Amino acid sequence: MLVTQRIMLGDCVERPYFPPMIRYDLTCENEHAFEGWFPGSDACDKQMAKGLLECPICASRDVRKALMAPAVSAKKGDRDDEFRKQAMAFAATQAKLAAMRAHVEENFENVGDQFSEEARRIHYGETEKRDIYGEATLPQVKELVDEGVEVAPLPGSTRSDA
Ligand SMILES: [Zn+2]
Repeated sequence: MLVTQRIMLGDCVERPYFPPMIRYDLTCENEHAFEGWFPGSDACDKQMAKGLLECPICASRDVRKALMAPAVSAKKGDRDDEFRKQAMAFAATQAKLAAMRAHVEENFENVGDQFSEEARRIHYGETEKRDIYGEATLPQVKELVDEGVEVAPLPGSTRSDA
């Protein structure tokens, strides 16, 4: 069973957030070169300092930033390419989320603001098991989760006619 809810905007603190990703060329103690993507310029340093980075080839955690050739990093065309790649990856993610939302809106029963009640009744077997979606406040969602009811946020932007 998949129970899905839509958190009402006023209470929603968990909107999907996609930070701009920064790419670093990394290298390990064995001179293996690989790349890492990080949500911000100091995320790389922090993860490196905590030993969270691992060489995908030899699993060494002795990882450092590779020296970048200035001729490469300074070229505007490369930066534009990088930006385009990120923009496309972002668009692809957005499209996936929109498709997920469309699937739910087409196939799941919309119970509107009765979501919290209905999800609970389904969970406790008081009504027929089915896929539903609807609206719930954050406190309601927390209660459901505490009771072990499976709920998931409905991704994508809200349809204006919904
Ligand atoms: Zn390595």
